[in-house]
Amino acid sequence: MSYKLADLKSDYASDWCPGCGNFGILTSIMSAIVDLQLNRSKVAIFSGIGCSGKTPHFINITGIHTLHGRALPFAIGAKLANPELTVIVVGGDGDGYGIGAGHFLNAARRNVDLTYIVFNNGVYGLTKGQASPTLKYGLKTKSLPLPNINDGINPLAVAIISGYTFVARSYAYDIKHLKEIIKQAINHKGMSLIDVLQPCPSYNDIHTKEYFEAIVNNSKRIYKLEETDYDGFVKDPTNQEEIQSKIINAILKTQEWGDKIPIGIFYKIDLPTYHDRLKQRYNMIPDLNPSKMKFYENNKPTTDISKLIEEIKV
Ligand code: SF4
Repeated sequence: MSYKLADLKSDYASDWCPGCGNFGILTSIMSAIVDLQLNRSKVAIFSGIGCSGKTPHFINITGIHTLHGRALPFAIGAKLANPELTVIVVGGDGDGYGIGAGHFLNAARRNVDLTYIVFNNGVYGLTKGQASPTLKYGLKTKSLPLPNINDGINPLAVAIISGYTFVARSYAYDIKHLKEIIKQAINHKGMSLIDVLQPCPSYNDIHTKEYFEAIVNNSKRIYKLEETDYDGFVKDPTNQEEIQSKIINAILKTQEWGDKIPIGIFYKIDLPTYHDRLKQRYNMIPDLNPSKMKFYENNKPTTDISKLIEEIKV
């Protein structure tokens, strides 16, 4: 039976600050799920720690609020245990690109079929606005006593070079755009990253709604790649020349920041997912869905580990 946006709203009232970009991201995620009419019993949303970590609390769907920087390994475990799940991971830039940076890189190597949405606001909002890994050198938000002494990373370039097979950016207050990007990421077979520009009005007074939506030299600062002739889609994944040229162009495009800020899909390639690779390696196993395996039948465990226990007994 079809369902509506109202059906996905949980009983918990969100406690984010007024005007927070998180509201736009929350609505976009729910709208994407509704548009795709995903089977709600087969969707799971994982989060890390931070303001964004609360997102699963506000969606009436299976949600798992995990540890700081560790949402990706939890989510990957769930997808491996039950490949039929649609897995969405949410987290902040501090959570994912700081403490979770090791997982952020290594998740890409596996190309597990899941969607990672990063709420990028340049600060650690939950702990009063310290500089996060994406805040650029020399910037001083109202929450910092002195300008940032560290440089900021470029998460999209890192994602592309690490092996994410779908890399995009969107903007929290452009719900229509973000919703469409999330839908495409969910439909993409492989590891997707969506970095979302998310104003944090409480602590970041530089990257505000006014900043992102400003008109600079007669055109909007934020512009959409799909409205230009930019093309980051690899047509032939066996053509190394095409891959190299798309990667280089995409990385150059991610460097564009200032008077013009692009949003949209920077890079996309169809490659075997982790499950495809497993199937190839263990093609003798007909069912690769551990959640459906029987561990107990006719009052007996289906696996006999007594021999193994004998072998390792000391
Ligand atoms: Fe949003 Fe910033 Fe408030 Fe956190 S601190 S809820 S990111 S406005």
